[in-house]
Amino acid sequence: MTLATLSQVLDPKSSRAVAGLVVLGWEEARAFVEAAEAAQRPIILQCGPGCRAYTPLPVMAAMFRTLAEAASVPIVAHLDHGESPEVCARAIDLGFTSVMYDGSALPLAENIDQTERVVAMAKRAGVSVEAELGMVGYAAGKPSFPTDPHEAAAMAATGIDALAISIGNVHLMQTHDAVIDWRALRAIEAAVPGLPLVLHGGSGIAAADRKRLAETTQVCKFNIGTDLRQTFGAALRNAVTRDPARFDRIAILSETIAPVRVAAQRLISGF
Ligand SMILES: [Zn+2]
Repeated sequence: MTLATLSQVLDPKSSRAVAGLVVLGWEEARAFVEAAEAAQRPIILQCGPGCRAYTPLPVMAAMFRTLAEAASVPIVAHLDHGESPEVCARAIDLGFTSVMYDGSALPLAENIDQTERVVAMAKRAGVSVEAELGMVGYAAGKPSFPTDPHEAAAMAATGIDALAISIGNVHLMQTHDAVIDWRALRAIEAAVPGLPLVLHGGSGIAAADRKRLAETTQVCKFNIGTDLRQTFGAALRNAVTRDPARFDRIAILSETIAPVRVAAQRLISGF
């Protein structure tokens, strides 16, 4: 049994960061755990709103827990972008070991109030909480707003285990040239010493920057979606077109596992 909480795997003082890997289905969830075992590193399996709209949350919870219980390295079962305390409560009941409550679109006082509610119920269940302050925008979508250090200090007082911040990182980037505001990051670190910091939009951050962030700052979780979804898409396209006579789902989809495992292992080992 190697199911772990977020606070058990995140260490802002260590020179390494942990990957929060976006899961959309069984094949990549399996590939990610195999990659973590090969790299001998913990990972965070996470399902966000898109995943939950497609596959019911109890199915994802059972999938994450089944994989974690058989794994040889710590695996966190994490709810990504929980849009309400109710969704977080449901995830906690289903056995997720970590929840993100995303109140970043709310006024500060309301975000803090709701986050406090989530922290209170999560702590009773031994579950970790990630919150978000500022707004991490989307490539060709909603704009970003930077995280304010003073607001970060107020949010840290809620007892959260990790804080997602906006310092130039952007969701859904298909290039690797996000411009990180190091000065803003240092100001946030000074306001919340020792608090694990999270960067969503990790795919858009150059590998060298991710490594430097992991080694020299409190950033100790990178969310990665786009990079590995591109690997999955290419592998699936190849598996489908390689033999037009094939129709069996397992024969086709199982060929996506190895390429995703190799890409995920390279990524995990890189930071
Ligand atoms: Zn995100």
